[in-house]
Amino acid sequence: MKITPRKRCFLWSLILVLLLTGIPVWAGEEGVVKSGVANIRKGPGISNAVITQVKSGQVLPVLDRSGSWLKVQLHNGQTGWISESLVNIRTVAEKKVVVTGSSVNVRKGPGTGFSVVGKVYEGDTLPVLGARDGWYNVKLAGGGQAWIAGWLVKETNGSSGQNNAQPSRSSSSTKQLVVTGNGVNVRKGPGTNYAAVAKVYKNAKYTILDQKNGWYKIQVGKQQGWIAGWLVSVPSAQPPAPPAPPAPPANPVPIGSTVVVITGEVVNVRQGTSTEAAIVGKVYRGDRLVVSDKQGDWYKVQLANGQSGWVASWLTEPVQGSGVSRGGTQRSEVLIVPIADNQVFKVAELAGRVELILEGWVSGQFQVKQGSAADKLVLELEANSTRNYEGEIKRLGISQVKVYPQNNKSIVELDFASPVTYNVAYEANSKTATIRVGTAQTRGLQGKLIVIDPGHASVQPGGWLDPGAVGPRTNLYEKDVVFNIAIKVKQMLEQAGARVIMTHMGQTELTLAGRAEIANANNADIFVSIHANSSDKGLYSGHSTYFYAPYGDEILGPQRYERQKLATLVQREMVKAGGRIDIGVLEANFAVLRETRVPSILVETAFISDAQEEILLGQESFRTQLAVGIFNGIKAYFE
Ligand SMILES: [Zn+2]
Repeated sequence: MKITPRKRCFLWSLILVLLLTGIPVWAGEEGVVKSGVANIRKGPGISNAVITQVKSGQVLPVLDRSGSWLKVQLHNGQTGWISESLVNIRTVAEKKVVVTGSSVNVRKGPGTGFSVVGKVYEGDTLPVLGARDGWYNVKLAGGGQAWIAGWLVKETNGSSGQNNAQPSRSSSSTKQLVVTGNGVNVRKGPGTNYAAVAKVYKNAKYTILDQKNGWYKIQVGKQQGWIAGWLVSVPSAQPPAPPAPPAPPANPVPIGSTVVVITGEVVNVRQGTSTEAAIVGKVYRGDRLVVSDKQGDWYKVQLANGQSGWVASWLTEPVQGSGVSRGGTQRSEVLIVPIADNQVFKVAELAGRVELILEGWVSGQFQVKQGSAADKLVLELEANSTRNYEGEIKRLGISQVKVYPQNNKSIVELDFASPVTYNVAYEANSKTATIRVGTAQTRGLQGKLIVIDPGHASVQPGGWLDPGAVGPRTNLYEKDVVFNIAIKVKQMLEQAGARVIMTHMGQTELTLAGRAEIANANNADIFVSIHANSSDKGLYSGHSTYFYAPYGDEILGPQRYERQKLATLVQREMVKAGGRIDIGVLEANFAVLRETRVPSILVETAFISDAQEEILLGQESFRTQLAVGIFNGIKAYFE
């Protein structure tokens, strides 16, 4: 396809928007690199020079086509051409954002200077029309459009419209449950201490007549009785879930997204798929576990402490429709510990946040306390129980969960990776308390641990010299400029009460991954790498800030919001203080950003290759301005 001048102009403005915002705004196609390493070329065809390479799995938005060649967007904002045969093409759904702030103003334009035109609330999903300066232009539910700050929303994949637009079939007002256990007793009262009055079977549906202590009252034939909540699934009220699909008979457990509930009283978890295999742990009736593999009659499951092992499938039942969602707005139960017959303690995840759920206690029978340190919560539950449990839920930042009996009470101790706050909501009807846990709520710079990485050093691993980029006119070394700026930022942060670790003081034997490891090993709050940029022939100038958080990545994906927020705020303040062109926030797979497990950014202060900026970077006053900008951005991040 020939590119007309008009089209070229459109492409350039699209690329410019990308350079300015770092946020893709189109809905179209993207290519996923098939396998190995693929060449990206300057033009469509193998006669064109290779400009870079991409690895399998990398996602490249498609900007244009020419024959069997695709023009794609690279992570660094550049574009290039790739043969269609090297990628799998997929369609990108309309981009959406989910509101993460509890109550957020939407405005007439992209900035807090514009007037407020409405409010949106946590969990609201808004279609994206465009983006500018770290703000999103969104479609409002009631019609019309407005702007919302990028750091108060989270992008959703939007590839499956699963959680909305679900046609509500039979929207009867009566709530139904589906039996997930097979041959489940229905009892005279809500507890296993009551006599069984009937038996029900898998996939049978019953109308819920009443609800008590985690049990449901149902009618079976002429009998009324109670069934345990953990042996049924109840489609949630909002949004109405579709009717549970009938389980395919051949393989009732689709691997990877299935949760099973333990039906045996105490079940061994073993190293292998036989009752002869060594025992690696125990699970209990009512425990829910994610199945990651299947062999014969055995399921591979992961325990709360991260260990995995095999359980006999005949001691479990699949929980219908309980695909484990990550970071969605659907609540997913991560840990269930039955304390006593009618009393259950649960840990759940809702939109990446921890919720502790107490079922079966009336108000006054439970207490929530902050432990001696702000990163500990202690629940005191009145219970007649001897239940002991110990585990961890790493991905939710819970380093230890401990349940043990003490003086007619059950104590639940939770250690979090960082200080937490909490609030308790109690629902008397269902006797359910929900404790919403907030993390990293301590505000301000006081006590924060920040790792500063001057981008280059005179001596690198193996003793090689690394001046970084070199100013072509004044022979200014990037390593000297960025070390000087880094020291200034360090002093400002320490003045404000933060702790700072430098990855090096001018010379280092560390690799890039080694620099990142300093932040990881110290569990720093953030990592900031400081650089000066350079371009061929001195074409570019201005400030830019990079972050990296691909959606699929287990560690980086969930940090996307934090990383983008840090980058956005530092970029904003650096532009204010430095006054050069605002190139914007960009996403790139740089080693220090990829290897850090804490929120991290890479700041490109200015272009040492630009005639004006080379002179400025040589000046003490401009370096101080840049340091002030970076400092103010970091400060804003912690406010
Ligand atoms: Zn550099």
